[in-house]
Amino acid sequence: MPIDVVRLGSLAYEPLEPGARCDSCGGTGTVAVTVVHTSPEEVRRYCEACWPTARERWEVAQEERTLDWMKRSMRAGPFVQPDKPPARSSGSRSWHDVGLFIERYLLRSDGSPGVPLTDVAQQANEIRRNAPKMNGPMPERIAAFVNKYSGTAS
Ligand SMILES: [Zn+2]
Repeated sequence: MPIDVVRLGSLAYEPLEPGARCDSCGGTGTVAVTVVHTSPEEVRRYCEACWPTARERWEVAQEERTLDWMKRSMRAGPFVQPDKPPARSSGSRSWHDVGLFIERYLLRSDGSPGVPLTDVAQQANEIRRNAPKMNGPMPERIAAFVNKYSGTAS
């Protein structure tokens, strides 16, 4: 499941916390948060420098948990199903995630749109609208993407 970088409004935890401690390096100021919805919830926060690696680990762990649950379900048969792993969610205000989102879902490796142009334009507009909430100024390559596509749907 991709990390939602666009619809951050529904997040219960604000990822961008200038005073919060990074759970990876101990530094101050975080841009991302991950939550395992157990009781109590397991909340981890990460700074800009640690987030790309932490994000990758988070995604791999998510895949492994899902696969493990599927295997146990198959072995268990139809009557006694194993409990589903706890829900997990995450959010970030890191431009790193916006870059990944563009690369993974909006553009092909040759740089051409991988989805209908109206969808690319809609996402470009949303990235522009959300820019003030992000950590730091918009990186040049993302600005180039936004400038190229944000007007193409109107
Ligand atoms: Zn850190």
